[in-house]
Amino acid sequence: MITLANARVVTPLRVIEPGWIVIDNGRIHAVGRAEPPATDGHVVDLALDYVLPGFIDLHMHGGAGAQVTSIDPDEILRAVTFHRSHGTTRTLLSLVTSPIEDMVAAARTIADMIHSGDLACRSMVGIHLEGPFLNPLKPGSHHTDHILAPDPAALRHLLAAGDGTVRSVTLAPELPGGMDLLREVVAYGAVASVGHTDATHRQTTEAFAAGARLVTHLFNAMREFHHREPGTVGAALADDSVTCELINDGHHVHDDVTRLVLAAAGHDRIAFITDATPAAGMGNGSFKLGPLPVQSRDGKVTLLDGVTHAGSTLTMDAAVRHAVRCVGIPITHAATAAASTPARVLGLDERTGSIQPGKDADLVVLDQDLRIRAVIAEGVVVHGLLPGSR
Ligand SMILES: [Zn+2]
Repeated sequence: MITLANARVVTPLRVIEPGWIVIDNGRIHAVGRAEPPATDGHVVDLALDYVLPGFIDLHMHGGAGAQVTSIDPDEILRAVTFHRSHGTTRTLLSLVTSPIEDMVAAARTIADMIHSGDLACRSMVGIHLEGPFLNPLKPGSHHTDHILAPDPAALRHLLAAGDGTVRSVTLAPELPGGMDLLREVVAYGAVASVGHTDATHRQTTEAFAAGARLVTHLFNAMREFHHREPGTVGAALADDSVTCELINDGHHVHDDVTRLVLAAAGHDRIAFITDATPAAGMGNGSFKLGPLPVQSRDGKVTLLDGVTHAGSTLTMDAAVRHAVRCVGIPITHAATAAASTPARVLGLDERTGSIQPGKDADLVVLDQDLRIRAVIAEGVVVHGLLPGSR
């Protein structure tokens, strides 16, 4: 049993200051204000550091030079561990559009890691297929040579390789056969996410009616918002059943647009994602994103044209800092977008995603500058250090 005391505890509705959290057996046992109850365990004085729920990233391709579209478990783990050190206690692993057999092989590798039950793999929740069923008109940084028309057999091949671990699929519903594919994803039990799409407002509305519940990186790689043809952006903002991924790094979406999105959709329908590439955590340089070479300069990742965005160098803690410091939203709302909402999207909200008794003790300790001090996953400190016990 361990008690985190004298903390700013960020719960869904308020910051408890000073607050405490008692962790027992990997779970949050109790949460409260002022002096913690006496227990027979350690008490750690956090000197008013913030404690947030562990972050949940719905969209991550890599980090620390490693990519997850790989058949090398060590490489995959390097990316996962890097993001865990930035507060991501649960993550999807996003496969970029690549030759289908490469995606199948990567899906098999990741599924084996998840099913191994290995402690190091505990933060891996599942696979996000970003393609190959994308609209070639909106490829972003996905290689158009490997984009496929909606093909149920190819989808089943990928789902089978994932062996129950494919949790979300980004697809373009407007393509011939796209709606049937979407229905198949929904029937399988994965999240259908509208993205890399030229769908009109009407087509997007039909996709939502058929069960799509997520939009892949709102604004990026989709038809632009127009007041008479608001496209996927307008349809998503107007539909309360839909969650919008947002790359909140100040590059992919202007901060004023983020403010508009939050005002239009409410903070609990936005999921911060990293869309991180292997360039995250590295300096300027050249990297691979799936089969494509990309370059990273000053935190911005592009194709070699220097213009087309190709994922990010973002980490979830940086997304939260950017939200609070630059966008100016309350830290409770930032925690919702970084943890509670993605937990709900994945159906994990009974277990994690907020600081409430009974949930897993997935916690991020941030200092006054909102920098990582420690990361706790299921009650175990997996990164950084807690101050000495008292
Ligand atoms: Zn992506």
